[in-house]
Amino acid sequence: MSEPIKHSNLYTESRENIIRDLPYSPEYGLAQEQVEIQRETYGSNRLTVKKHKHPVIRFAEQFHQPLIYILLAATIVTLALQEWIDAGVILAVVMLNAIVGFLQESKALKAIDALANSLVSETTVIRAGKRCKIDSSEVVLGDIVVLESGDKVPADLRLLRIRDLQIDESALTGESVPSEKRVEAVPVNTALADRNNMAYSSTLATYGSGIGIVTAIGDQTEIGRISALIANTSTLDTPLTKRIAKFSHYLTYAILVLAVTVFVISIMQGVSTVNSFMASIALAVAAIPEGLPAAITIMLAIGVARMAKRRAIIRRLPAVETLGSTTVVCSDKTGTLTQNQMTVQHIATVDGEYRITGVGYKPSGSIEPINDSSSKGINLRATVECGVLCNNALIEQKDNQWHVVGDPTEGALLCVGEKLSFNTDEVQKSYTRIDELPFESANQYMATATQDNLGEVLICIKGSLESILSKCNVALTSTGKEIALDKEAIIKRADAMASKGLRVLAFAHRKENHTGSLSHTNVKAGFLFLGLQGMMDPPRPEAIEAIDACKRAGVDVKMITGDHALTASSIAKQLGLLGTSEDIGKSVVTGTELNDLSEQQLAAVAKNASVFARVTPDNKYRLVNSLQSQGHVVAMTGDGVNDAPALRRADIGVAMALDGTEVAREASDMMLTDDNFATIRSAIEEGRGIFDNLKKFIVWTLPTNGGEGLVILLAVLLGASLPILPVQILWINLTTAILLGLMLVFEPKENDIMKRPPYPSNASLIDSALLIRITLVSILLCAGAFGMYEWTLMNGSSTEQARTVAVAVFVIGEAFYLLNCRSLTRPFLSLGLFSNPWIWIGITGMTLLQLGFTYLPFMNSWFKTEPIDLTSWFMAIAWGFIIFLIVGIEKGWRNKISSLKSPKIRRSAYDN
Ligand code: ADP
Ligand code: MG
Repeated sequence: MSEPIKHSNLYTESRENIIRDLPYSPEYGLAQEQVEIQRETYGSNRLTVKKHKHPVIRFAEQFHQPLIYILLAATIVTLALQEWIDAGVILAVVMLNAIVGFLQESKALKAIDALANSLVSETTVIRAGKRCKIDSSEVVLGDIVVLESGDKVPADLRLLRIRDLQIDESALTGESVPSEKRVEAVPVNTALADRNNMAYSSTLATYGSGIGIVTAIGDQTEIGRISALIANTSTLDTPLTKRIAKFSHYLTYAILVLAVTVFVISIMQGVSTVNSFMASIALAVAAIPEGLPAAITIMLAIGVARMAKRRAIIRRLPAVETLGSTTVVCSDKTGTLTQNQMTVQHIATVDGEYRITGVGYKPSGSIEPINDSSSKGINLRATVECGVLCNNALIEQKDNQWHVVGDPTEGALLCVGEKLSFNTDEVQKSYTRIDELPFESANQYMATATQDNLGEVLICIKGSLESILSKCNVALTSTGKEIALDKEAIIKRADAMASKGLRVLAFAHRKENHTGSLSHTNVKAGFLFLGLQGMMDPPRPEAIEAIDACKRAGVDVKMITGDHALTASSIAKQLGLLGTSEDIGKSVVTGTELNDLSEQQLAAVAKNASVFARVTPDNKYRLVNSLQSQGHVVAMTGDGVNDAPALRRADIGVAMALDGTEVAREASDMMLTDDNFATIRSAIEEGRGIFDNLKKFIVWTLPTNGGEGLVILLAVLLGASLPILPVQILWINLTTAILLGLMLVFEPKENDIMKRPPYPSNASLIDSALLIRITLVSILLCAGAFGMYEWTLMNGSSTEQARTVAVAVFVIGEAFYLLNCRSLTRPFLSLGLFSNPWIWIGITGMTLLQLGFTYLPFMNSWFKTEPIDLTSWFMAIAWGFIIFLIVGIEKGWRNKISSLKSPKIRRSAYDN
């Protein structure tokens, strides 16, 4: 068997024929050498990623902006007027703008691609007789793939064996109802969507399980052929960028109207056509904030990278913004708020209670009766054995530490087996697994059917107390007798364990002599109750701190769990989610209680309660919905298949990278690489920081446009010559945006960032207080530039010199104002002079450029500037400093008013 194996069109073949013709059995899979041969022959399972638009197209798109149209028109007109240098400079600026925009966009796309690539998915295959987990890209043609609910199908498969397998094929066919799978052959030419014995790459198993043989990989798969959808995580649009694009759109029309008006007025004032035209071009160039869209994209991309560093991976860019306005976080308990380090501490049977010692997954420790009267009887052993048999986990030692492979809950049960001094491996080997119903949180139990050497079949079930008790009517005693089951007494024991914070599982079994397969209906009743095991899963210490931080930041935290109400409430107390004085269970709401509530009642409960227990995925969806209808911005975590609707519905769906299903990940907006609640907190903090910096940039950049526009308008209205020419305006706008404005990206987060309420999601970015500040600075810049221009002219200097001075006023004024904008509320001096060194690097760079602009002969001829004297510099600097002082005073005054209005909460007026 060393030839490469190829399969195609297997859907028309019967399963028996396929298996007969295979050179290996489905139970054994490919041998390792064969895997290599297959890979060498057919390559690996990768889709050629649909590239972003061709670079040439992306470059061309940089010219698709209103500003550029205006500039290109201006170039043509200046060419017609034979103003060669002007035309050249404008054209150069257009090109420069396009190149810078192109490079920035490429960088942002690259950053986002890198994130998309880090999201590898895993697959279970059977190779050389063993199940193993591999990277999906390593799947080869002919591999035997095991699918379980929650998995993403890694390649096209012909299904060979299934149990109730349902697959969501919407990624491929658009059909949202999951398709039910079979294994029988279908006729040739059956439509793709009806070949129900196939599972296609990129679709999602939502229910049941199955095994299939790989018939196509990579680009040969159906999804690869339509080559759609691959680059879909990397859009650069967010609500904010869309809003700004819309704003720019309207602005363009307004500017066009204004430019025409300026042209007409100027002509009426008796100004030449050429100069009138220059004035209207100057106005248009002045009023458009060119740097804004690029700056926003860059800031968001940097934000994504920063969050990744703090272990939160953003899957959809808008989430970066939404995080800043999140008001409620609904978090899973197990693994996210707790450590997922389960240790069984307590076992109870009908006639005995036992304490288990030892920590973590290290299989050493002992089991001791709590009262001397109880002996280590038959039911204790049966309880532990049931936990070992009804189990898919593995404990192993790596680097001197014990780890669980699989579900931690099940890992803990294996440990107990070792502590009761039987070899769990041997026990598992002495039984053959015939069938299994996997654990799903909607059912709350798991069942396995096994057969011993004598052919006797044992069905073991384990799960929540409610789900197991309902299937039992007799109980096993320590001496091996079967007695009537006293459910009340068992519930009491379980409650006592749960109120200590233990996660309680119940165990039962049933003997059979026919080898029936399992289904939810045939495990409904007739079980023998064995006992209870209670395991401790301590809270994460960092979660306690993070919950506290969220609360101070005005973000509500709610614990959502499938666990018992008493367990949930005990853990919630340790986490600080419930006051300790409250009655146990008082503010814990269970899923059943939620089901009975009307929408109105639900709204109140959803808002007020902070712990939800025995919750089903359905309940989660309703909770998100209800909170959102009350205006909340909700982040919700989830790991199971059934959590997908709630994750999609939430404003921020949060999935887990370590545990959790592929289905949940696909539905999420953000992934936690450490599954840790504290990471959500960090992401919220980063989200707020990004929002802050965006706002600072906007508040910084708009007065430049405002001031320049005012200068031109004023000049035209007064019939004066233009204090700044179009090329000079372009100079100011482009150089300062890059060297000054973008340095705000590196502004550290403000200290109070997690002490103030979330950003209102629908409020406008710039409130009235900030609008006043923008107007004020616009007027100050205009006054300084216009005044200095006229003053320089009056002193007998040339127009060129006067214009150079006016430009200097703008550049210097902006540099000073940049210092103000480092915080929108705090005084400059309180920020730490060098807490953002980039600001000073930018200012130094800008100074050098401006000196070149003023003194270098070639710049002089390009930009129509002339060297100016020291007095002019001094006055420009003085004016900049005055602007700095005035804004500082305005800031202080605002803070005073707002602290008078609400003396206790020192909220700033700008964060309304
Ligand atoms: P959560 O993840 O919020 O802790 P789950 O839905 O995982 O909640 O668990 C709910 C209940 O289901 C647990 O209290 C436990 O009794 C039971 N359970 C959990 N994991 C398993 C498992 N692997 N097998 C059987 N029962 C389980
Ligand atoms: Mg769970």
